[in-house]
Parts: sequence; structure tokens; C-alpha cells
Amino acid sequence: MKSFDLKGRVAIVTGGNGGIGLGMARGLADAGADIAVVGRNEEKSKAAVADLKARGVKAIAVTTDVTDKTAVARMVGQVASELGRVDILVNNAGINIRKPPHVLEAEEWESVIDTNLTSAFLCSKAVHPMMKVAGRGKVINIGSMMSIFGASFAPAYAASKGGIVQFTRACACAWAPDNIQANAILPGWIDTDLTKRARLEVGGLHERVLARTPAARWGAIDDFAGIAVFLASPASDFVTGTAIPVDGGYSIVG
Ligand code: NDP
Repeated sequence: MKSFDLKGRVAIVTGGNGGIGLGMARGLADAGADIAVVGRNEEKSKAAVADLKARGVKAIAVTTDVTDKTAVARMVGQVASELGRVDILVNNAGINIRKPPHVLEAEEWESVIDTNLTSAFLCSKAVHPMMKVAGRGKVINIGSMMSIFGASFAPAYAASKGGIVQFTRACACAWAPDNIQANAILPGWIDTDLTKRARLEVGGLHERVLARTPAARWGAIDDFAGIAVFLASPASDFVTGTAIPVDGGYSIVG
């Protein structure tokens, strides 16, 4: 069997200071990877780094707005100089602005697309040269159930999450000759800061999620550790361009 071991590997996790990103970062650290946590909130990042170091790996926080091209280039350079290399990139940072399309402002559209989609392009492009030279690499992008389904209250979010699946496929094709695999994870409804607000803003959401999810619960951030390790490790070397739901069965209910 190919290995799930990540000892000696370095992972960048955008939005790794909380929620699903922290769940994945913990999984990668438990498998032996050193981690760079990328986010804007320094307090959250500091706490995440302490949590990850307690798992016996090196961890650093790099305060970065992932929508800023110059800052992203600086961040990747800093990770390479402090942790020595970049083997794994998890494009997880994301936001939502919940309004129907006819109410959403153009600036709000841009902010969601820049954070959820353009950031993945910027970070992936910035790590590619290092992965190419190393002769291997793993890119993991975070989609959503809205990569598949529509929702009246999430036009920019759904566009960004549909786009991230197609971007994943483009990278998978372009970078297969470099032995770089790119895959997407499509989370169902997961209990995080993002959805705590959604539960307040979208009436009946909590009950509808429970009723529709065969597993009959909201996902927890720990549910993302295993898939992150699989997609980051040699075990998935022949898996590329996929979009894997981690949703308790939400997407298979007709
Ligand atoms: P959180 O709000 O807990 O996490 C979002 C993370 O993104 C934060 O760590 C935040 O860090 C970071 N972030 C946001 N904007 C930026 C930015 N401009 N620059 C750098 N970092 C940024 O939400 P989740 O954990 O729920 O979301 C993580 C991902 O999972 C997102 O892509 C989301 O769309 C996706 N997802 C979540 C689902 C759910 O049910 N929770 C379902 C489907 C997909 P900081 O605060 O430091 O900026």
C-alpha cells in the first residue's frame, strides 16, 4: 500500500486558523506534516499554531490576505524560507455574503469571488514552480454543496464554488506531467463560524439540514482530517481532478 505518512512534508493551509481549515491542518499534522497557517486574524492563527505544535510538528502563522497577489507571493516565499519547502497547498479560505442576485452589490460579488476563487489561483500559481522542481505536489481546493446545487441566497458563493471545481480540473490536467495532483473536497453542512451565521440568517436551515442529511447530523471539523491526509499523501498519487463530497450523504438524496 502507498503511504499516508506525511513526515518531512510541508503544507500551507489557507484559513487554517479555524473551522474546516483547522480540522484539515490537525489531520495533516497528525500524519507528520509541518504546517503554515495562513489567515488574517493573528489571534486565531496564534492559537491554531499552538494547537498544531502540540501535535509534535513545526507550525508557523503567516498573516496574509489571500486576495492580495503581492502578499500571496510573499507568504509562499516566507513558508519556503522558514519551513524549507512546500509540498501541499490547501486552498480553504472562504467567505459568503447571503443575498439574492438582484440585491447583491458588485463589490460584494467581487469580494466573494476574490476570496473563494481567485485566491486559489494566486496561491496555486505561486507554489507551482517549487512543486515542479521537487517533482511532486498536492493541491487541495475546498468547494461546497453549492459546487453542485443552486441556492437563492448565494449567487457569488455558488459561482465561486462551481468555479473552483473547474479550476481544480484545469490544474489537474495542466500539472499531471509534473506529478502534481489537484483535487477538490465538497463539504456538506459543517458546524463552523461560517454556518453559525447562516443558521441565524436563513430561517429553518438547521432543521432542513438535519432532515436532508442521511447521517442526521451537521459535520464536525474533525470529519475533514482523513480526506485531507488521503489527498495530501502518496496514497492518492493516481487520484486527480476529482471533487469528493464529505457531506454525510447530503448530495445523494434525491
Ligand atoms: P470559517 O469562517 O471558520 O473559516 C474561514 C477561514 O477563511 C478563516 O480561517 C479565515 O481566516 C479565512 N479567510 C477568509 N477570508 C480570508 C482572506 N481574505 N485571507 C486569508 N484568509 C481568509 O468557515 P469554514 O471553516 O466553514 O469554511 C472553510 C471553507 O469551507 C470555505 O472555503 C467555505 O466556503 C467552505 N465550506 C464550508 C462549509 C460549511 O458548512 N461550514 C460548507 C461548504 C464549504 P481569518 O478570519 O483569519 O481571515
